[in-house]
Amino acid sequence: MVKRVNPRNIKIHQAYEIDQAACSVGVSIPTIRGWIKKGLPVMRAQKPFLIIGADLREYIENARKRAKAPLQANQLYCLRCREARTPMGDMVDYLPISPTRGRLVGLCSECEGTLNRFCSRSALPGLANIFDIDCKGQGEA
Ligand SMILES: [Zn+2]
Repeated sequence: MVKRVNPRNIKIHQAYEIDQAACSVGVSIPTIRGWIKKGLPVMRAQKPFLIIGADLREYIENARKRAKAPLQANQLYCLRCREARTPMGDMVDYLPISPTRGRLVGLCSECEGTLNRFCSRSALPGLANIFDIDCKGQGEA
């Protein structure tokens, strides 16, 4: 969602009503409301609520950075938290996809949801220094 928008269309000194903000960024009004719930600053002193262009631009750029943030060596991506998380007990399973690639899965230490991370088979010896890896039916990694 955040990928398609262009924060450069936002005038930083302008105050936007929610529908204007949606229009200039190219997203729906509910999307903007969702961003407000997630922390986009809004001026609630009067109606209609106003969003400062600079805040809107910063929010979008930060959201992009979060989306692109690489995983730390000891993290996998939590599908439920939608963030990088460490697996419970540093325990992960390696599930092969092909002879050379597979994915690591674990349990989120925050929400107990499923963590996922793609990796190459050749990375396993290095990853074994970080995680307790169970290679399903693969013998030694
Ligand atoms: Zn989680």
